[in-house]
Order: sequence, then structure tokens, then C-alpha cells
Amino acid sequence: MRKKEKKSPKKGSAVDIMVFGVVQGVGFRPFIYRLAQKYHYKGWVQNKGFGVKIHLETNKETDFHSFIQEIKDHSPSLSQIEDLTFQPTSFQNLQEFQIKKSQDSESFVFISPDISICDHCYREMINPSDRRFHYPFINCTDCGPRYTIVESLPYDRPQTSMKNFTMCEQCRREYQNPLDRRYHAQPIACPRCGPQVKLIKSKEETDISGGIQEAADLINQGKILAVKGLGGFHLVCSPFLPRTLSRLRKIKQRRTKPLALMARDTDTVRQYAYLSSSEEELLCSPRRPIVLLNKKKDIEGISPFLHELGFMLPYTPLHYLLLQKTALIVATSSNKKDSPIMKDEEGIEKLCDYILTHNRPIHMRADDSVLKVVEKSPLFLRRARGYVPFPQKVPPGLKSSSQIIALGGELKDTVSVYKNGYVVTSQFLGDLDEYPNLRYFEETLHHLTHLFEVKPELVVSDLHPNFHTTRYAQKMGIPHLQVQHHFAHILAPLLEHQIPPGTKVLGVALDGYGYGADGHGWGGEFLIGDYSSYQRFAHFRYVPLPGGDAASKQPWRMALSYLRDSFGPSLPEVNSLEKISPNKRKGILTMMEKKLRSPLISSCGRLFDAVAFLAGVSPDEMEFEAEAPMRLEAAAAENLQDFYPFSVEGEGRPFQISFSQTIQSLVQDLHENRSPSLISAKFHNTLSQVILTIAEKVRKEQNIQTVVLIGGVFLNKRLLHTTQNLLQKKDFHILRPVLYSPNDESISLGQIAHGLNYLT
Ligand code: ZN
Ligand code: ZN
Ligand code: FE
Repeated sequence: MRKKEKKSPKKGSAVDIMVFGVVQGVGFRPFIYRLAQKYHYKGWVQNKGFGVKIHLETNKETDFHSFIQEIKDHSPSLSQIEDLTFQPTSFQNLQEFQIKKSQDSESFVFISPDISICDHCYREMINPSDRRFHYPFINCTDCGPRYTIVESLPYDRPQTSMKNFTMCEQCRREYQNPLDRRYHAQPIACPRCGPQVKLIKSKEETDISGGIQEAADLINQGKILAVKGLGGFHLVCSPFLPRTLSRLRKIKQRRTKPLALMARDTDTVRQYAYLSSSEEELLCSPRRPIVLLNKKKDIEGISPFLHELGFMLPYTPLHYLLLQKTALIVATSSNKKDSPIMKDEEGIEKLCDYILTHNRPIHMRADDSVLKVVEKSPLFLRRARGYVPFPQKVPPGLKSSSQIIALGGELKDTVSVYKNGYVVTSQFLGDLDEYPNLRYFEETLHHLTHLFEVKPELVVSDLHPNFHTTRYAQKMGIPHLQVQHHFAHILAPLLEHQIPPGTKVLGVALDGYGYGADGHGWGGEFLIGDYSSYQRFAHFRYVPLPGGDAASKQPWRMALSYLRDSFGPSLPEVNSLEKISPNKRKGILTMMEKKLRSPLISSCGRLFDAVAFLAGVSPDEMEFEAEAPMRLEAAAAENLQDFYPFSVEGEGRPFQISFSQTIQSLVQDLHENRSPSLISAKFHNTLSQVILTIAEKVRKEQNIQTVVLIGGVFLNKRLLHTTQNLLQKKDFHILRPVLYSPNDESISLGQIAHGLNYLT
């Protein structure tokens, strides 16, 4: 070696390239290796804390421009380049190109979400002469499990739940060959050395012979199966057998909540639902979310009273094999009511007749993601598998060298961690008031801080004094910042869309409930703000919520509250209220009269409940959140421009939006026997008009053009669509979340935004 060094250095070009982003565990280094072979360059590629470092050299004169362009243009499908920098360096006259071993580091290392089987693997799986023919755990660097099997970083096999499977000779050869598609594919496996499926009769806990094909037969015979997927178990059955469906609903304790469907292919989906090209694109994307589609042909008992069906395509090889014999199955997450999705076999036997499981452990749970498409962009109802842990860049002016965690709210919680310019938001965790979900929250928070080595110097939580997350933050013993719920809501899309600090926007935050700065329940809010602070410009006028939480489940209580607000003590007759006993009604009215257990709220969600009930489309008691508003949306007539009157009251900020006239005219419509379809459409249009009115007032006063539409109410596709159109016609700039849900799942992201501003 010494001899070599003494030789006079040969002439040549050399460059160091740094690539930052999701570039580990996605086949990036072998891609660079192959590229280097193609160009006959020498050097090395190595995983570094920030991503990947590449050293290239050649004895020719070059600026490496076309190599760098190829990295940008042809990087592996799962990779996501956030940043690429390069600088010339000294020529070392290296003799080969190598993939160097990973180096541990302090910085942020990204990891890919779980991704559905790729075309390559699929073709191998259905090829009888392939050694992985019909093998349900086939994967490669372009596909397969990631987030749900990783225990620690760097992402190497001993740090995943594949650690107990020893590779066979053939798998090892593929794993070690830089030119192989499975080079360093950590979950690499084959029938000889990898995980195996097992079919169990659940009540007897006996293994029965057979596997996936037998499982498919059982589904067709009307059995309910628990099937282990990527982030947990699904409960699976045939959608066409009413008795099986009602058994499933009994097990899930859900009478009306929609059940998701998994279809073999898009042709099957098209038999039951309309599928636009952008919906098809999302449905078929490697992230494989559940997409809500307009019904073409109803399947009884799947999505009663609603106009949409939730479809997904198979995403694991196991799903594909299962669907060979049955084109359409119900695939709903396996959880007992108010518990997270189940990832282990323990306890699952109580929920099903048979269990189709396997011995690759799930380290981190993740539900299926659920979205619909509005104006060609996704609108997330639930963001989890396939999208987590996507790294979110923060706008340059917000960057901080400190590390932050944010704990979110309480219902539909997520947690977020911030480090080195990026935020990672967790999967949907559920309602933390339920103990099992609170455990899931702790499990996930620990997982994320451990995985990304976050040592928080600040914890951010909601303003609510009694939320579990607030109390958890208080006990952490580090500086603690509290952010008002709707303010956090508005900041999430600002961060997502890289709005620079100091830009003021009008935030329209419409949802069910958030603890207000004045102690009342907020939820119909028009806030002017930026990352640093907000001002409440206007809000829905307060009305009592008779009985507190009970009123959020029984929409007729809100119907009474709004009638009383609009008509005073002598209430008009309304048909839908007839089915509620006079005693009950009287009790509620007295409750409000005497101001007993009747906190004041400005909630848009509760206004929706009231209108849904008055219009006659709501159940007396809601089984799941937003059931009444969803039925109201489903009822709305399509092309109707009419809206109800409303008024904006008060001298100054906050202005109060009164719906007294709205409810009065609506009751008039009811008395004239107008249809729920017309009433619903007019009500939706009214809200859009309210938003336009306030937006114009704000623009006139403060010259603010940007309007943020946020909060769970904007999961209402009709409302979002109409409002967007109306505002765009008047030249407003609209911001709404595209990568996150508008509901409380994005609270933790907004909390990070305010936390960052606080630190800078
Ligand atoms: Zn693959
Ligand atoms: Zn093998
Ligand atoms: Fe909210």
C-alpha cells in the first residue's frame, strides 16, 4: 500500500455528492452502484446520518453533470430526495466502486413507509417456476414492510422483526449482490428460510392443515377470519352474506359504521363504485390507501345511509393470494371497540372463527389510511399505513437546532417529533380517553423518539387542562408550551405548504370541539394569524350544549338548542322531534333554561347535528363521530345554488355569526314539506356563503388574501368543494391540507409549528 501512495498522483476528476431524504432501505445504494458501473466511475457510496454520501472519480475530465441528473431522474421509486449537494474533491485514483458499511450518526435518518408488493415481485409470485411461487412474504428493495417492522435505526435486518429468520444460502447471495434487486432488502425471505402462514380454528386454537386457499374457501362459506396484514389484523368476511355481516357487526359492536372493502382489482371496484382517474391513481398507488368512492351499486349492510363505499386493493402478497378465489372481501380493522388495531394473536380468537396468521412479528401497529379525492387531490380521513413516517420539511424561517415533540389533542390523536428541519407525524392513534389507546400513544411516542433519536427540549400540547396529553406533557419535566386547538389546526397547513413566518392568513377552523381561550367550547372559528399568534376575528354565536358530551351523541338535543336560540321559548312544531318523548324534550329545555350542564359552544359540528336532525336524516343516537353530518352530506341535492339567510353581529372583534334566521327559514321549508335533499343543499351553501362573507370582510380590513380551510368539518367533500369554488371565483388563495387530515390528526403538526416559532 505504501508503494502506491508514493506514486505521483494520476490526473482525474472527483466529486463528493450528498443526498438527503428517504434514501435508506429503499435500494438507493445499489442504484448508485449500478449507475457507477454504467459510467465506469470508481469510488464508493455509504449511508450517513443525513442520508447517503457518494464519492465518484474518473481519470477523464468531467463535471459529473449527467450522473447527477440521472440520480435525480431515475432514483428508486420509494426514495424521496429532499436535497442534493455536491462539490469537487481530490482525485484518489481508486481502483473500484464499493458500497461501504453504514455509519451510525446523530442526525435524522429517514425511513420509508410500508409499501405494497411491486410489479417485479408480483410477477415472480405468480410464476410457477420461480422459487418464490405463491410465497406470501416475497419482497424486494422496492416493496414490502418497513415502518411496521423496524425496531431501531439504522435500518438493518438485526434491528427489524426479521432478526430471528436466518437467510438461506440463495437469499444471502441475493442480499449480498449489489446487482440484485434484493441487495440489502432487509425483509428478504423465501419459502425455505422466511416466515410461514398458519391457519388456526380460533375457538379450539388448533392449527388446521392448509393455508391461504383454504382461508379463501372459509370466507366464501360465511366464516369470519382474522387476517394478519402489515400494521395489524383485519377482520375479513364475504360482503354478500347478510348473516355473516350482521355477525361481524355484532362482534365489532357497530350497527351502522361503514366497513371497508378489499377488491381484487379495479374492474371489481367499478362494478360497485364510480372511479375517476385521480381516484384510480390513488387507489392503485403503492401506498394503497382506502379510497372512498361514490356508490354505483349498493351492497346491503356495508355503508348504510351513506353515499360512499370505501375500497382498497390488496397490498401484501398474502392479500393477493387470498383474493385469487374471492374477488371482494370485507376487510375491517380488528379492534374491540375503543381499542387500537390488534397486532398479536392474543385475544384475536374472540373476534373471529378462524385466524390466518404468520410468524413475522409486527413491531409497530398502523391502521389502513383512508382518503377521498377532492379536486384531484387527496383529502385524508385517516393517515397511517403507507404514509407514516413521511418526513415533512419545515419552511426555512422556522428551522431550529432544538428538538421538539408535540402530543396533539385527545380525539383522533397523533404525535409529532421535530429534528433538524423535519417533522415526522405519527399514524392515527385514536381517542386517548380510552385506556388501550393511551397505551398505544405511549408506545408510538416512544417508538418515534427512539427511532429518530429525538431528545426533546420542548414539549407542546393542547390548551385543555384535562386532556391526557396535557397532563403527560406536564410530567415530562421539560419546558412545556400550550397551544389553542384551532390555532394549531390552522398552523398545520401553513407548515405543510411552506408558508414563510410573518405571513398572515385567515384561518377558517370548523370542527366539533376545541377548548377555547375563554374556556368555552370553540368550533366555528375565524382566526387571523401567523405562526406566532392569532386573533379571533369572528365565530359562530355561542349556544348551549345541553348535557355536555351526551349532546354530542344525541343530535336531537342540539336541534332543541338551536330551535330555542332561534325562536325563543315558544318552539315551532317539527316532525323529526315527535319521536323524542315530550318528557325528554322538556328535560333538555329546562336544563338549558336553568343553565345546568349546558356549556356554551360555537361548534360547527354540533350545528350540523342540529340541522341533520331537523331535516330528518339523523339517528336519535349517533354510533360514531359525525354520523349525522355524514348522512346530511349524503342527502344533499347536487346542483342547487340557494342558501338560507344568516347574520353577522357585533361591533367589533370577535364578530358573531348568528344562524337564527337560517334555522327559522329551514323550519319554514320543513313546514312546506321541502325535501331533506333541498334543505341539506341549502344549508351547505349557507356555510360557504358565511365563509365568503367573513373572508371579504377580512380582506377589506387587512388585505389578507389567503384563506385556510381546516377542521374535521372540511372532510365534508361537498362543503369543501363549494367553498373552494366560491372563494376562488373571488380571487382568494385557498390552503387546505393535502398530505395530512384536516381533522384533529394534524393538531400535533400545528403544535410543532408554533413551538418552532416560539424557539426562534
Ligand atoms: Zn418487490
Ligand atoms: Zn431464503
Ligand atoms: Fe379539531
